[in-house]
Amino acid sequence: MALWKKILIAMVLGGGVGIFMGPQAEILKPIGTLFINLIKMLIVPLVFCSLVVGVTSMQDIGKMGRIGLKSLLLYLSTTAVAITIGLTMATVLTPGAGLEMTVSEAAAPVAKEAPTLVQTILNMVPKNPVDALAAGNILQIIVFALGLGVALTMTGEKGRPAVKVFESLAEGMYKLTELVMKLAPYGIFGLMAWVAGKYGLDILLPLGQVIVAVYIGCILHVLGFYSTTVALVARLNPVRYLKGLINPAAVAFTTTSSSGTLPATIKAAREEMGVSKGISSFVLPLGATINMDGTALYQGVCALFIAQAFGVDLSMGDYATIILTSTLASIGTAGVPGAGLIMLSLVLTTVGLPLEGLAIVAGIDRVLDMARTSVNVCGDLMVSILVGKSEGELDEAVFNKSESSKAQTQLA
Ligand code: ASP
Repeated sequence: MALWKKILIAMVLGGGVGIFMGPQAEILKPIGTLFINLIKMLIVPLVFCSLVVGVTSMQDIGKMGRIGLKSLLLYLSTTAVAITIGLTMATVLTPGAGLEMTVSEAAAPVAKEAPTLVQTILNMVPKNPVDALAAGNILQIIVFALGLGVALTMTGEKGRPAVKVFESLAEGMYKLTELVMKLAPYGIFGLMAWVAGKYGLDILLPLGQVIVAVYIGCILHVLGFYSTTVALVARLNPVRYLKGLINPAAVAFTTTSSSGTLPATIKAAREEMGVSKGISSFVLPLGATINMDGTALYQGVCALFIAQAFGVDLSMGDYATIILTSTLASIGTAGVPGAGLIMLSLVLTTVGLPLEGLAIVAGIDRVLDMARTSVNVCGDLMVSILVGKSEGELDEAVFNKSESSKAQTQLA
């Protein structure tokens, strides 16, 4: 049976078992944790080796700059569309209407300070690359890997042996990813059972409207916006795109970490979508770090929800501020569970909305995180397809191939 079918069955089974067992489903969590740990084990070496190889395989520094710029522009514009969808959903469904919450004067949660632009740029450069690797600071790892890749390319013949080592290590990491992904159905079963058991149906109902607004927004963004863009701009069959993203989306849904899903995302881009190694290993780690469409959409919905719940009227200027700060906040959001909630405080403070709102959303954040992380990953994949196609580095035969012929290619 294909992996994606097993994963879907595991999610449904896990959800059912979790609801049946209730909080006792906690005992199944270690199976999920084991899977998450295995996947985390892959991230740093995979990102580092595949980025170095991605750069050295391009041979041409100008091309790298062009691809970087294209990815950045696509990442920013898709994020702006996502927030707009989020704001629209919250305006149409008005999830906070009728809640009539008031701000308690005593409670003044501490807002996260927004780092300045200069600080952000300075923080991107690792003072000690080994520290960055040990700490798993993806942005710093990206900067170092890009630098090393460019330098090795410029070194020419003398750099070849090192490039070969990275190429061979990267292949090993891809293989290890494949092996770990074979365990995905079990890990996903354990995680789904735990979440469904912990949250059950009770907690979902009171804030059901927010959940509905975020989920419908996410579905619209993927099925409407991404699929249409794949069909109209890349001129590819959107159904293939949707099918190819099932594995990484399911991993994202259950682990709620786009950095953690990165190995599965890279695998899907290469094997399901036919995106070249060079493009996928460059565009996807960048996307997993800075492109968070789902998070931006969620911040749009939550900001309006909180405004409605506390009866705050927002002006057109406030809406513009929400779009701008949500875009920046989503870039700064780390691809780890719950990071979007912390960054929501930044958006609320900028627009002057009560931070008490965070406490209401926090109760259901895991459920919202599942949807937004999946969208974050689907967005990265969509951009890798667009960039790959525009650079002539997308193998349409792989993209359009049926399941059986893909298996045959792998066997051959
Ligand atoms: N969990 C999300 C991710 O990893 C980030 C967030 O909390 O919004 O993509």
